[in-house]
Amino acid sequence: MGSDKRRVKGALLDLDGTVWDDEIAPYDGAAETVARLREAGLPVRFVTNTTRLSRKALAEMLSERGLAAEADDVFTATLAGVIRLREWGVTRIAVLLPDAALSEFADFDVVEDDPEALIVGDLGAGWTFEVLNRAFRWLRAGAEFLALHRNPYWKTEGELVLDAGAFVAALEYATDSEATLVGKPSPVLFQAAARSLELEPGDLAMVGDSLRTDIPGAQAAGCLGVLVRTGKFDEVELANSDVEPDTVIDSIAKLPQALDL
Ligand SMILES: [Mg+2]
Repeated sequence: MGSDKRRVKGALLDLDGTVWDDEIAPYDGAAETVARLREAGLPVRFVTNTTRLSRKALAEMLSERGLAAEADDVFTATLAGVIRLREWGVTRIAVLLPDAALSEFADFDVVEDDPEALIVGDLGAGWTFEVLNRAFRWLRAGAEFLALHRNPYWKTEGELVLDAGAFVAALEYATDSEATLVGKPSPVLFQAAARSLELEPGDLAMVGDSLRTDIPGAQAAGCLGVLVRTGKFDEVELANSDVEPDTVIDSIAKLPQALDL
């Protein structure tokens, strides 16, 4: 990383595939890395595209696993969506997210008819023809289309499964429109996390396992992009990609060393 190392004043850590595996077991050295960063005066924020859980629930899961965190330390795509909806000034929204994530939208009117905006995230097994069709009609009627992320697939319990991005793409295709993306790789989340630390994105390293969602958006926002060889890391994908991480490390355990701590 050369001289880049010296500018890092804080770290943004992806969760799935970076801090913990698909069974939510932290990777070896994850807790030690977070402790080491904090000890060295580098604050840590967790930046995840998951929209299945609230920030509070994620902070509790981190804390239970030895990575002490408060809700305010966790940046989800859902939070980025709330920030964007406020910027737009919309109040009537339709939400396609699991119930556990709805608490983030308490300030909005969640409706089933004539929404000003449609927010799409991880509905998992809730994606049915009926749900997709309802969303299609809202969009046809003029609702703004906000996608919390567009990850095509993810891995859970050892299996790859379709993620929200596949359904976002279907709705875009059917309505000949393009969703506004707020989760990674959009810079919205990286910028919001940087603001919360009173730092510039250029002061931060973003550490993640996804070449497509963690690295280019972070680099575009000005962060250092650190790819880990865990989670969905794929050596062949890296070799054939135009994306060039600033550094690639075996796992989060190697982060303090990569940052010269
Ligand atoms: Mg990940």
